[in-house]
Amino acid sequence: MAVTILVVEDELAIQELIALNLKKAGHMVLCADNVEQAQKMINNVLPDLVLLDWMLPDMSGLEFARRLRREERTKAIPIIMLTAKVQESDKIAGLEAGADDYITKPFSPRELLARIKAVLRRRLPEMSDEIIEMGGLKLDPTTHRVHVHAHDEPSKSMEITLGPTEFRLLHFLMAYKERVHTRAQLLDRVWGDHVFIEDRTVDVHIRRLRKILEAVGKENLVQTVRGTGYRFSIECNEENIG
Ligand code: CA
Repeated sequence: MAVTILVVEDELAIQELIALNLKKAGHMVLCADNVEQAQKMINNVLPDLVLLDWMLPDMSGLEFARRLRREERTKAIPIIMLTAKVQESDKIAGLEAGADDYITKPFSPRELLARIKAVLRRRLPEMSDEIIEMGGLKLDPTTHRVHVHAHDEPSKSMEITLGPTEFRLLHFLMAYKERVHTRAQLLDRVWGDHVFIEDRTVDVHIRRLRKILEAVGKENLVQTVRGTGYRFSIECNEENIG
């Protein structure tokens, strides 16, 4: 589960230590010493998670967390607060400001990575490395392989080959099964932020994905919800196949 993590921490020794450990775990790391720098980085690249120190020179981390939660573009970013404060009331204030979790300093690299993993699993299931199995499909994010179970013999399965975009699209849809996503949401979450492509790109890739699934009789899993978008559903609804 390698993601891009923004570390906002003014104590450079701690910032470096965190960055080192995150990189070792395979993550991409961005570092900011204060809120102003952090905001500039976020304007440029939307990170998958923010590690946010509570006490910062230009604005409190708490205030910044609230700001991120208010903005449409940043409201869904998972935030973990780093804090030396251990009082119950501070923890509650952090969670109320929209933080997903908090870590009390000093913390071990192991604890940090475990907390990050837990938050990502909860907040961004499509980032998880866990194998997803549903509707006769088995998708493995680690190996990027998708297998289909044979109708007559469930013990038998065969691999289907997807392009990288179709794989990400299928992974996302399966991770949020039964939920409907608009084209804009899919562009944001599957294609990534700051990619200026047209909505119909989504339709093109959905068509490709369905065509591959059609070859194994599974095209009904990816459904069009008219006027809204797409969803992965194991409830077959003929009307929704577009
Ligand atoms: Ca600090």
